[in-house]
Amino acid sequence: MRDSQPSTIYLSDYRAPDYLVDKTELTFDLDPHATLVKSRLKIRRNPAVATVGESLPPLWLDGVDLELLSIAENGELLPAQRYQERDGGLSLAVEQPEFELEVQTRIAPESNTSLEGLYLSNGMYCTQCEAEGFRKITFYPDRPDVMSVFTTTIVAPATFPVLLSNGNNVDSGTTDDGRLRITWEDPFAKPSYLFALVAGDLQYVEDTFTTSSGRAVKLQLFTEPRNIGKCAHAMTSLKHSMRWDEEVYGREYDLDIFMIVAVDHFNMGAMENKGLNIFNSACVLASPETATDAAFQRIESIVAHEYFHNWSGNRVTCRDWFQLSLKEGFTVFRDAEFSADMNSRAVKRIEDVTLLRTAQFAEDAGPMSHPVRPDSYMEISNFYTLTVYEKGAEVVRMIHTILGADAFRRGSDLYFERHDGCAVTCEDFIAAMEDANSADLKQFRRWYSQAGTPVLEVTDAYDAEAARYTLTIRQHTPDTPGQKGKQPLHIPVTVGLLGESGNPLALDESGALETVLHLTESAQEFHFDGIAEQPLPSLLRGFSAPVKLHFGYSVEQLQFLMQHDTDPFNRWDACQRLALNTLQFLQRQYRENGAMQVPEALIKGYAAVLDNTSLDPALVAKMLALPSAQELAEHGESIDANAIIAARDFAKASIASALKSRFLNRYQQLDQRKPYQPSADDIAQRSLKNTCLAYLCVDGDQDGLAIAKAQFERDENMTDVAAALGALVEYAPRDEAVENLESFYQQWQQDTQVVETWFGLQSSSASFGTLERVHALMEHPAFELKNPNKVRSVIGGFAMRNFSQFHREDGSGYDFLAEQVIALDKLNPQIASRLVTPLTRWKRYRAQESKQIHAALRRINESGELSRDLYEVVSKSLS
Ligand code: ZN
Repeated sequence: MRDSQPSTIYLSDYRAPDYLVDKTELTFDLDPHATLVKSRLKIRRNPAVATVGESLPPLWLDGVDLELLSIAENGELLPAQRYQERDGGLSLAVEQPEFELEVQTRIAPESNTSLEGLYLSNGMYCTQCEAEGFRKITFYPDRPDVMSVFTTTIVAPATFPVLLSNGNNVDSGTTDDGRLRITWEDPFAKPSYLFALVAGDLQYVEDTFTTSSGRAVKLQLFTEPRNIGKCAHAMTSLKHSMRWDEEVYGREYDLDIFMIVAVDHFNMGAMENKGLNIFNSACVLASPETATDAAFQRIESIVAHEYFHNWSGNRVTCRDWFQLSLKEGFTVFRDAEFSADMNSRAVKRIEDVTLLRTAQFAEDAGPMSHPVRPDSYMEISNFYTLTVYEKGAEVVRMIHTILGADAFRRGSDLYFERHDGCAVTCEDFIAAMEDANSADLKQFRRWYSQAGTPVLEVTDAYDAEAARYTLTIRQHTPDTPGQKGKQPLHIPVTVGLLGESGNPLALDESGALETVLHLTESAQEFHFDGIAEQPLPSLLRGFSAPVKLHFGYSVEQLQFLMQHDTDPFNRWDACQRLALNTLQFLQRQYRENGAMQVPEALIKGYAAVLDNTSLDPALVAKMLALPSAQELAEHGESIDANAIIAARDFAKASIASALKSRFLNRYQQLDQRKPYQPSADDIAQRSLKNTCLAYLCVDGDQDGLAIAKAQFERDENMTDVAAALGALVEYAPRDEAVENLESFYQQWQQDTQVVETWFGLQSSSASFGTLERVHALMEHPAFELKNPNKVRSVIGGFAMRNFSQFHREDGSGYDFLAEQVIALDKLNPQIASRLVTPLTRWKRYRAQESKQIHAALRRINESGELSRDLYEVVSKSLS
């Protein structure tokens, strides 16, 4: 355990910076063990906080793991009594309101395994500064409200021909001893977290984009030479994003060059550094032979996300890290709308809502629960969460729903105009939305400060005589750690009504078929007049608010909605509710006497969906997917892992055998040989085809496995190959599975991204991914504990996507995870603290599992001094 507890930082303690940095000049002399960093800063007292006749406060410069070589003011070395190095930085006595500070530090990129600051990945230098990584490069006021103009000079041996930083390349040459020297200048003031540097022996592909005002922007995508053939899709995605942001938000790119670099070692998906985005290779590199449809879509959305940050994040940035959702929530909303416009809107929405319901709802109900704008943190890296990102995006979406598209655009225009070049708050965003539209979002603001998932209870009544239909909606948000007694929220509930023949009913005299109900009270009635027949309500269409909604739908009503709802999202949702009810029913049966029986309704419902060839195949695939074990765990009082697994397996097997011929028909229909295209239509067809394939293989069905084997051997594209291999690994006899895995590995061992897929397929397989297997994978030469992607695919695949094996009754899965988390914390605290998540939910499980998980957590807690990242999560989870 730690002797000193990390301190908590509070939003309410925010103070504007004492000093500003007008100019930042950096020089890097690169060396793996001893990189020399020189900085020259033009510093000035912040006029906004200065008072007349004041004595100047000390200047605080953040700095972590730095070796200070020298510090000088206006060209004079400073005597030791002028500054004091303390844990986490340096305090400097200031004598004049404006001065130039020169600091020299030495750092060792090679031993930096945290992947924060300057580090090496496969021999190439790269940086990651968000949120607080710049302080690992040099002493600096490392906070987002200090914005400065950066000039960066990089000196490196000629074996690093590509030297990149933010902005424009303004000078290059060689040093006297034959090393390369290049200078970059970024004309836009930015906070230190957007700084980036890359150096390596890289190749690139290039393209141009002409902006709506006619400026040509050079686009470059850099990779290690072996990956140069995997850039095309990201480049296309980038151009689409640039066009979309002009068309939908009126936002043009501002520099003459936009660069993307792919690196193999990266903690997150990607980073929006000004003019120089750095990407996790898995989120940017793709070719049809090596990447699945899911990867193609992930790349498209992440490229867009990082590009969109250029406005929502970089031009307008965050005042402090409590405002993280200001840029992340808004940018996720922007990229989700982009993806919806480029692909199937309904399917994109279904995927996002599924993530929210499984993972964000769990976070909201767990020990780390926090509002979209947190009030406090120990380690900000722990707050790059689903709540800040995905719920934050839902909050922006609700503003869009409440105001309407045109008003939202007016609001965003005003926001960018008012705050361009500034570091602002969530409040500023809402205020712009209000001011541009004379709207009132006073109550709505609670979404930013209140944690927890609201629950809506809906009942209805129909008065035939008065032709009046009434919906009564109650809202309630459960207590969360540190927050009791929640206030009612302003919740937009989009609804429609269906008549007896499935026809949409007019809701008012204007004939509108859909409307947004504004729920603002803890209980409220909504009346619809002129309703001539008993209607069936379609509630929360498109998931218009991030809430749990309960309405006592009967099985027949759900089937009716599945067939007739005009809102495709709600059609899917009705199917999910039906499946969920079934799985809960099966769990009860399993616990009572072990004998289970799947009700006809679900089978009939699935059959009807499969027969409906007019539905988008991607939507059909989503409808046929049973809620995941993780999602089932979110429902019900205490989690019984065995019952969840038994119920799911049984339902899957019953559906597979009852609908076998239908799955086969549909598979054959969709199994058209054509050249691979990651187009929405083709992706949709493959997704349904492979959903059918998975059902066909359930329980090792011989015919199904033969089809999977044939598809695997045809080797047409990675989507089909990985789907077939996944089915074989799950259901084929062990020796066959091993044989196929082996041949796959032989074919693809040179390709990092495919090897990650190969790892993930095994560790997350319910039947194949045993703990023994996972141990063996960790011994595999391609595994690397220092590489987050490998850790995520092997250890994460097991602990987060392999419910059956992770929750094995002997508790071995929990002990294993604890052990790995302890080891990882020494290398990479951010990854350790993310990976521990499944153990933080111990209170939700039945007594036995709960005890075991708790013990694993305690073991971590008592294992020695934890990083601040891990300490925060573990201590909050134990208390
Ligand atoms: Zn982002």
